[in-house]
Amino acid sequence: MKQIVVISGKGGTGKTVLTASFAALAKNKVMADCDVDAADLHLLLHPAVRERHEFKSGKTAKLDKKICNRCGKCVVACRFGAISDDMAIDPVSCEGCGLCSLICPVSAITMKENIAGEWFISDTRYGPFVHAKLGIAEENSGKLVAKVRDVAKEIAEKENLEHVIIDGPPGIGCPVIASLSGVDCALIVTEPTLSGLHDAKRVIEVAEHFKVPVKLVVNKYDLNNEMTRDIENFCKNKGIVVAGKIGFDKAIVGSMVAGKTIVEHSGGRLKEEIVKIWEGLK
Ligand code: SF4
Ligand code: SF4
Repeated sequence: MKQIVVISGKGGTGKTVLTASFAALAKNKVMADCDVDAADLHLLLHPAVRERHEFKSGKTAKLDKKICNRCGKCVVACRFGAISDDMAIDPVSCEGCGLCSLICPVSAITMKENIAGEWFISDTRYGPFVHAKLGIAEENSGKLVAKVRDVAKEIAEKENLEHVIIDGPPGIGCPVIASLSGVDCALIVTEPTLSGLHDAKRVIEVAEHFKVPVKLVVNKYDLNNEMTRDIENFCKNKGIVVAGKIGFDKAIVGSMVAGKTIVEHSGGRLKEEIVKIWEGLK
């Protein structure tokens, strides 16, 4: 079983569009959407939810006013200003450090686990799909990403599937690290702009740090051939394989509006390029 993650240095490079096409092209696989902050692979895969689970992460202080003697120690101690003078705890300001519950002389404050989101196992026309939804204003520490990956891997092992195909988050933070570590290949999608190259360099550094083999795709390469050449030269100097170049095509917008993957929606050059990238990855 091989794990492939599709990532990008920033959002909006076409990462999910490409991942959804791999879902259509790969034979025995499980799909995982690890972009839990802005999950959108479901818009193209149209999952039917089979299992729904709460995701618990972090804690929030709860104060029992019936026990509290109003000494005010917790109000002074909370450096996040989460406890008001009338002993009400603001759950958004509470960072869950637990100090108030430690110092309360009458044990009026307890720490309760937060429900930070949900994760799902779904069926799609392309096979099983693991995805998640982070709760509103919840911090993405990477734990939910790790959960999605673990479940997808378990399914692949149980059903003897060949691939786990992961739609990774953008950027270089904790969620990216959680989706990168231990995979067999990271496919980085970038655009032919200076910032695209800069962002790709940053995420390549992260992947190299975790010793993950990297390949790169230039999306909309023909919008700036000079910059595409710079990216190719950079890859050549670093020994990074350019897995493919995808030309700008309005059919991509059409496929998204139709809620289909590009390989289902469009034939011709675009489909050929994506099939070639997938065959190279395999
Ligand atoms: S420290 Fe405990 S007893 Fe004192 S105000 Fe806070 S909750 Fe009430
Ligand atoms: S747990 Fe920490 S942040 Fe939350 S109310 Fe208590 S002292 Fe403040």
